[in-house]
Amino acid sequence: MSDRATDDGEGTRAVRAGLPDAAKNEPTLPGPAFAAHFHLPGEVDGPYTYGRDTNPSWSLLERAIGELEAPGRSDVETLVFASGMAAISAVLFSQLRAGDTVVLPGDGYQVLPMVRAQLEAYGIEVRTAPTGDDAQLDVLNGARLLWIESPSNPGLDVCDIRRLVGAAHARGALVAVDNTLATPLGQRPLELGADFSVASGTKQLTGHGDVLLGYVSGREGEAMDAVRRWRKIVGAIAGPMEAWLAHRSIATLQMRVDRQNASALVLAQALRERPEVTGLRYPGLPDDPSHKIASQQMRRYGCVVSFTLPTRARAERFLDALRLVDDATSFGGVRSTAERRRRWGGDDVPEGFIRFSVGAEDPEDLVADVLRALDESAD
Ligand SMILES: *Cc1c(COP(=O)(O)O)cnc(C)c1O
Repeated sequence: MSDRATDDGEGTRAVRAGLPDAAKNEPTLPGPAFAAHFHLPGEVDGPYTYGRDTNPSWSLLERAIGELEAPGRSDVETLVFASGMAAISAVLFSQLRAGDTVVLPGDGYQVLPMVRAQLEAYGIEVRTAPTGDDAQLDVLNGARLLWIESPSNPGLDVCDIRRLVGAAHARGALVAVDNTLATPLGQRPLELGADFSVASGTKQLTGHGDVLLGYVSGREGEAMDAVRRWRKIVGAIAGPMEAWLAHRSIATLQMRVDRQNASALVLAQALRERPEVTGLRYPGLPDDPSHKIASQQMRRYGCVVSFTLPTRARAERFLDALRLVDDATSFGGVRSTAERRRRWGGDDVPEGFIRFSVGAEDPEDLVADVLRALDESAD
């Protein structure tokens, strides 16, 4: 972790993010505003009219996320969505039209190939490039939008966001960054020049594995107006309860990411000593291929570690033998999870590839559990 991680008071900012001004006899964080419609006598004006357009629980959460994604900036707005995919689709489908070209990561989130097929069905040209080594540079000419996922999920490759933004903007292309894995405390894409920071709040942002949520942050203006319009048209809106739960969870974001990410490094260091582990990746490891660029643009390296065990059977026995780690998908929760990623079929990874999400358990307990499970699963 770089020194910058704590010297600007982001823990303080996280616990207070988005809170309304203190008002006598009112709660600190108002409860969820369950409302399909709001009192609206006479003219249609004021912030809250109908529940698909706006909601006070979204407003507070959007302000909170904005304070973390773009501290000190008043020209940035944030829009929350029902899920990360709702947020991703909102940017892609509101910004692109038939005849446009978009560059997607070839190694990104596993639903992107389905998104690709849908974009192509609408007459949008889709090019893909791997995340590592800034390979996107070679396919940018004529593109309208560059989509970056860094670190990529699940391979944990990293690209130079500033450099790619420079190249994309020089060609008139917009840039969106999927900031799910890093969280805004790990990386601030808008400060690196991106036009949109987009994320699934389902993962470490909310961190308890009990909420689906997504958001888009970007500079106020036409592009964000189109994203807002898309949300209204499609109606992929967050429930007030989910918005409130997410807001409540953000208060502990810094504690969770500090603990989980520190433990991820400890686990990665323990795994590198094991002969049966290959392809170990964690951007926080000083000799990881992603580390150099990650250390220039990230403040924290995430809670996901990936590695490969020799066979599918070995990986399955390992997952079975774990006691503190649930065999489950997703990542970023306070309870550790791990899965054999190939079981989904989508990602181009070996049969024994494990994506491991480090939770908030005591790191020594977690490492002991993993080492024991490795021993017990040996042939
Ligand atoms: C999970 C995930 C998504 C999708 O988010 P949902 O909330 O599940 O819709 C998008 N991008 C990345 C990198 C993810 O990990």
